[in-house]
Amino acid sequence: MTSVYAHPAAANYYAGPSHAHQARDRGYRLCDHCSSAESSSGPKFRLCGGCMTTQYCSQDCQRANWPSHKAICQHTAAQVSAMKQASHHSHHSSSHHSSHHATEDTIAKCLRKFASAHQTLLSWSTYQALNVKRLPSNIRTNCLVVDLAYHGNGAESHRRFSIKSTHILPRTYIIDPLVTADIQRRDDRCRRLGGIGTAVVVVQCGGASQVMPIEIDPPASIGWDTREDWAGVLGHFVGTGNTDFRPISTTARGVHYG
Ligand SMILES: [Zn+2]
Ligand SMILES: [Zn+2]
Repeated sequence: MTSVYAHPAAANYYAGPSHAHQARDRGYRLCDHCSSAESSSGPKFRLCGGCMTTQYCSQDCQRANWPSHKAICQHTAAQVSAMKQASHHSHHSSSHHSSHHATEDTIAKCLRKFASAHQTLLSWSTYQALNVKRLPSNIRTNCLVVDLAYHGNGAESHRRFSIKSTHILPRTYIIDPLVTADIQRRDDRCRRLGGIGTAVVVVQCGGASQVMPIEIDPPASIGWDTREDWAGVLGHFVGTGNTDFRPISTTARGVHYG
């Protein structure tokens, strides 16, 4: 099945501000160095200007993290610019269906915005697809791959895609050693803090892809209901472009819609 994809995870890497149990709090971000959480009262977190994905609570943390972040940061930045070069200098044999009006570069950019806009939805879908509630170890052996078609109709980047298919593939699908190492680092950190670990979702369209690590807390603190119909929900929200998705959870106090 993996041979379907021409460019497996020659990926951009989107390590967005994700933390499953806090998904209902939109502003929530974790410092990539000290793991402290952004709060509405505290200082605003800063994004790394190199990769535009990693965030820090302070300049001190950013500086302290640089030796370990440098490799993945430069790698991400290099891939973004390689993608730009490729779409400017060559014509991709566009055997891919609906991607003919857009360059790979445009699609890659939109894909990044898509991943960011639908972060809660993608995190929840991965949690459901990998059946993390019943089989937590799944997150280390498998990943969710969401294959998108670019139709380009829509002012906002995240509305320009539809879902072609979803697959659950072995984690070995992600072959990039730097990306794999960064996922591992997040996994270790998450488990050290008492979480289950780091799940992975790959969103891809033609030759562009985004790998998103999702740090997942213990089931007790997530409480998301198991939903067999996750793929339908995913398709619905991507189709409508609605980014207000909220997971449903049932607790002793009742049912919470987000
Ligand atoms: Zn920090
Ligand atoms: Zn960076």
